[in-house]
Amino acid sequence: MIVARKILGYYGKFRYYVRLGLIIFYLAMPWFNWGDRPLILLDIEHRKFFFPGAVFWPQENYFLLLIMLILGISLFFFTSLMGRLWCGWACPQTIFTEMFDAMGRLLSPRFGKASHALWEKVILHLVWFLTAIILTYHFVAYFVGARAMLADLINLGTAVMADRTWPYFLLAIAGLFYFDLAILRHHFCVYICPYARFQSVMLDEDSVVIGYDSHRGEPRRKKKIKAGSAEEADWGDCTNCNKCVQVCPTGIDIRDGLQVACINCTHCVDACAEEMQRYDKATLVDFNSMNFLDHRKQTRFIRPRVIVYATIFVVVVVTLVTLLSIRIPIYASVLRDRNVQPIVVNNVAQNLYEVSLGNATEEPVALKIDVQLKRDSDRALVDNFRILGEQSLQMEPNELKKIRIMLQGDLKSAQAAKKIVPAVFSITNPHTGKTVQKQTIFTIPVGG
Ligand code: SF4
Ligand code: SF4
Repeated sequence: MIVARKILGYYGKFRYYVRLGLIIFYLAMPWFNWGDRPLILLDIEHRKFFFPGAVFWPQENYFLLLIMLILGISLFFFTSLMGRLWCGWACPQTIFTEMFDAMGRLLSPRFGKASHALWEKVILHLVWFLTAIILTYHFVAYFVGARAMLADLINLGTAVMADRTWPYFLLAIAGLFYFDLAILRHHFCVYICPYARFQSVMLDEDSVVIGYDSHRGEPRRKKKIKAGSAEEADWGDCTNCNKCVQVCPTGIDIRDGLQVACINCTHCVDACAEEMQRYDKATLVDFNSMNFLDHRKQTRFIRPRVIVYATIFVVVVVTLVTLLSIRIPIYASVLRDRNVQPIVVNNVAQNLYEVSLGNATEEPVALKIDVQLKRDSDRALVDNFRILGEQSLQMEPNELKKIRIMLQGDLKSAQAAKKIVPAVFSITNPHTGKTVQKQTIFTIPVGG
């Protein structure tokens, strides 16, 4: 197990606060409620996603796809611009592994050293496992609800294992979390994470990465040289102190150039800054483009790939915002009842429909149903067009209802038989004035 030496420099402090904020956000969010349900709930069992003020039904999965697309494109955009910012600053793998490291250091000053006793390791792994359970509880809470899970535990006790499925998910995922954060640790980033492999195609010579300035650093010093002495001119600035290697959680030497294993954690930047401070010089390892580090060329931030990613990003965001702004939170589907064939009785054609209606809001709503035959020429085929069934409905929040509607029309002529007439069901919320329309057909079979 690689346990890097602790370093807390300029970037380390900054990252500490970012990490703390993200951990608090992750742990606190599932406990907040919006009305009588969690603020954010990805209810996979009922296939509904709850966000403040909005509920998304399975039919609206394209919103989820668009959000994932935005996240994916932002990853491309920020990587091409600023390298693996995600890995070092926001990835849960890095954040929680560093949290586990901090716990190890807190529990034992010998953490990671050969002298770390077996009993210390046992205690540490027990604490890590309990922490993995707490982290997993909050992870599962995004799908079940933190308060609902707590109520289950209090009300059901051990019977929760028989009555609910979520405890099994919790235990299985906690096992994975523990294995990942306590055993795999940064090996996940180096050997498993697909993003590490992708990054090479997202980066170019102008991407800002953490890199070593070999122009200044080489040739590395092979002996101690006093700051300000004449000898300094014969050597580069790198004192070969190896601090940048000792603090690296993935165990690489950044002086060997940009590597897949570098997760942008900035530890080596702080370590070199600390060493260079002794010589009153700037750090040799810092955020820079390879164009600057290798060729001393100005970094170009605006370049074709950045413009392409930014354009796609803007297009997808605008699409999402537009779709959200025109979204009507009424779910409706109209199906002709396949068990009851359209018939003509006494010159009256009748068709039966199954109408599914959903209230995708968190307020009760009243809905009105109206049906129109589409064209004038169609209307000429039938007279006295009638809608039989419930046309006004009261729907509770998030309620799904199925009703049957019968359409009838008197045939105007025998020639109307065997015709298929387009019909439109309009479902309106009179309170908002918004209407959802569903196309179907009114069939006029050969009458009996
Ligand atoms: S090379 Fe530096 S930035 Fe990259 S993982 Fe190692 S310490 Fe972190
Ligand atoms: S920390 Fe800086 S000075 Fe020390 S070995 Fe690394 S690059 Fe050289």
